[in-house]
Amino acid sequence: MVVGPDGTLPLPWLAAPLAEVLGQQRGHSLLLHGASGVGTLPFGLTLAQAWLCEGSGPRRPCGHCGSCHLVQSHLHPDLFVLLPETLRRAHGWLLADDKPEGDDKKKPSKQIRIVEVRAAIDWSHKTSARGRGKVLLIHPAEAMNLQSASALLKTLEEPPAGMRIALGVSDPALLLPTVRSRCQRVALPAPPAADAVRWLEAQGLNDAAVLLAAASGRPLEALVLAENGIDAARWSALPRAIADGQGAALSGWPVPRAIDAMQKLCHDAMAIAVGGPPRYFPAASLPRRADAAALVEWSKSLTRVARHDEHPWNEGLLLEALVTQGRRALTLPA
Ligand SMILES: [Zn+2]
Repeated sequence: MVVGPDGTLPLPWLAAPLAEVLGQQRGHSLLLHGASGVGTLPFGLTLAQAWLCEGSGPRRPCGHCGSCHLVQSHLHPDLFVLLPETLRRAHGWLLADDKPEGDDKKKPSKQIRIVEVRAAIDWSHKTSARGRGKVLLIHPAEAMNLQSASALLKTLEEPPAGMRIALGVSDPALLLPTVRSRCQRVALPAPPAADAVRWLEAQGLNDAAVLLAAASGRPLEALVLAENGIDAARWSALPRAIADGQGAALSGWPVPRAIDAMQKLCHDAMAIAVGGPPRYFPAASLPRRADAAALVEWSKSLTRVARHDEHPWNEGLLLEALVTQGRRALTLPA
């Protein structure tokens, strides 16, 4: 997701923060922070493209100069995009040492490893190939382990002349204080709901407002829901199904997503119980009354399970137990 030849931004709501960053004289290391699904990676890439753009017009990135073409084809010699292997494969930003087909024997790493950071540091000492400086983009920076982050400190503090560094992060608190303190922060807010809905509709989504709420207002996450077969009707049917104890409504959902959906349902049921508005589900889809004590228990179980992102136990049984608890919470005792 970078600016294409027609010059339009991949995500329209990034225009204001981009203009702001480009319009100010900033330090050489930036911390871009935004919730997942807001577009931190596309923003980092667009910013890098703008910094390297060789166009003569006022609009950067222009999308059609030699430099922009190289960014579009992921071949710019002065841009180093460092992502964990899972994301590198998903977005096509492979490193020089990556095998194109991957290694079947081991799962791609979700971490940014120290050898990868060292490769980026070695690259940073080479002269700029096109004479417009260089950009190192690391995303998400919280994927660096302690060793990787420590290896980067010196470069963050004093990058080679002409080099800029951008770190994408979902939450700055996840970074070492020594990394945070070396960067200037740029906050990327979630877009106004109306803008996000318009954009989602342009991507072909029906009932975009329902899925946007389901995704906590983060448009890229709403898109992922839709791509995974969760449409507005299916989402809106979930509260009734859980209240009836029908775990089948979650069949085929990855466990973390099923747990997230139940947490959102639990949140909304609690909100309604105290007379507040729901946040994630359409009001009409939610049960009017629930068992407050059972809701609290359900919420605790969901939080406990959500803390572990790998589930060693039987996933079917786990979800069944959580759905049973949800049925109890969403039904008033007779
Ligand atoms: Zn350009």
